[in-house]
Amino acid sequence: MPLYEYHCEDCQQDFTLLQSVSANKEESRCSECGSSKVRPKMSTFSSKVTGMTSKTASPVTAKDLPNTKIFDLPKPRHVSEYQN
Ligand SMILES: [Zn+2]
Repeated sequence: MPLYEYHCEDCQQDFTLLQSVSANKEESRCSECGSSKVRPKMSTFSSKVTGMTSKTASPVTAKDLPNTKIFDLPKPRHVSEYQN
């Protein structure tokens, strides 16, 4: 099912909803405050996934994060430090 991104005009939150293509978008509600005054945003897919609604965040992004962290870990430098 595709992710749809919405902006709530009541609480100004952006959120994403996982909806089937046949779902009635008019009945979408804000996941933060429950308001129906939400407007769909153009599909940005992976360009901007906020942490606001991590429950519905893209699983691809969530899986990428640990890998990035591993690569960002500094290499052990204690060997050269001991030699100094
Ligand atoms: Zn809201």
